[in-house]
Amino acid sequence: MHNDVPNGRPNPYAMAVAQFEEAADRLHLDEDLRGILRTPKRELTVHFPVRMDNGRTKMFTGYRVQHNINRGPAKGGIRYDANVTLDEVKALAMWMTWKCAVVDIPFGGAKGGVIVDPKQLSETEVERLTRRYATEISVLIGPTSDIPAPDVNTNSQTMAWIMDTYSMHAGYSVPAVVTGKPLAIGGSEGRNEATATGAVAVMKMAADELKMPLRDLRVAIQGFGNAGAIAAELLHAEGIRVVAVSDRSGGVYDERGLDIPELLSYKHKNGVVSGFPGTQKLSVSDTLEVPCDVLIPAATEGVLTKENAPRVQARIIVEAANGPTAPDADKLFFERGVRVVPDILANAAGVTVSYFEWVQDLQNFFWEPEDIQKKLAVVMENAYTDVAKLAHDEGCDLRTAANMVAIKRVAEATQLRGIYP
Ligand code: NAD
Repeated sequence: MHNDVPNGRPNPYAMAVAQFEEAADRLHLDEDLRGILRTPKRELTVHFPVRMDNGRTKMFTGYRVQHNINRGPAKGGIRYDANVTLDEVKALAMWMTWKCAVVDIPFGGAKGGVIVDPKQLSETEVERLTRRYATEISVLIGPTSDIPAPDVNTNSQTMAWIMDTYSMHAGYSVPAVVTGKPLAIGGSEGRNEATATGAVAVMKMAADELKMPLRDLRVAIQGFGNAGAIAAELLHAEGIRVVAVSDRSGGVYDERGLDIPELLSYKHKNGVVSGFPGTQKLSVSDTLEVPCDVLIPAATEGVLTKENAPRVQARIIVEAANGPTAPDADKLFFERGVRVVPDILANAAGVTVSYFEWVQDLQNFFWEPEDIQKKLAVVMENAYTDVAKLAHDEGCDLRTAANMVAIKRVAEATQLRGIYP
């Protein structure tokens, strides 16, 4: 394991293991059990050719990691990114195990990734890459074994291609092999906005605990994709001020609150948020440090470090992204009384509605949007309440408490099942 990934951010797997050890210490887990729980069960690396539009063939590398499947089939997204590493995918798979456990849905954890910048490829090249990658990892994925979903730079169309590829091999339609599909082929109501809905819900619960009135909140969001942009939309629709947002191109700031619907159409036209008229220009990292009450990192991991943590002005951090806070930054935030709602709780609504989608696909019976929203609200409220209570009793941060709730459940399942043979 290297300590740093090429882009200079902390190694995500080292981060995930450090967070695990902290919770495992508090749970007094013995070393043998820790050895099982911290180690990914399966790590598949695939190298495969893709025919490019110019007739040439290019090699790509991808991964699929299953961290732990003691509580149910492996579940986790697939990301396409030029900086994907095996350590990153291992970390994300481990976080998925804890995430499914903290909201108590019967899945284990997995993650996949391909080293590629899809923006450099045509749509047909991305489709061929997706279908070939899906075929390469078909030794692992399946509706009862390992169920992918969208993540960074993948979306419902990517899932449709994976579902179709898997179904072509089977000879019949297998919608339950992926979640986050379009509605027309077995997707679920509410999946697209689920992650953002859950992030906004936990933000409100945290604000309520800190007695911060919602109407006074100023929110900054890093990342303007599925998680970040929809969170901005939901907040704006509720009259909560979003003062800053950023994407890879940089950020924009307006202390009076950004006009999110206008910004969405600007981004739609221009591909980036930078340059949105009437706003102050920010760099990508400035967005984390602007005057605000709530910060929602919704881009990528390792962006909050001990270097920039002292400059973060928010009192609440809602981790819509996976792994945005390095462990040493976590400590600084805890000392300063900044409430960090950890990723495995803050963005767990995505996998929760994915679970609802999977159940609907298996039953061939689809629920109304209101059913989804009601069930999701109950899951998020119960999970937040359990975690906040344990954090209070233990005198620890919400991340350690969330990991304790989750790891205890996975440890119990592991012990009950026993060691084979
Ligand atoms: P996405 O591809 O839709 O959007 C990502 C956004 O982040 C884009 O606006 C991109 O420009 C921006 N971005 C990427 N790197 C950046 C950087 N270094 N600095 C600033 N901005 C950057 O992805 P998404 O689905 O919204 O996922 C975002 C995060 O949320 C990821 O960590 C993902 O694992 C997590 N997450 C997503 C879901 C989901 O349902 N989509 C569920 C759980 C967790």
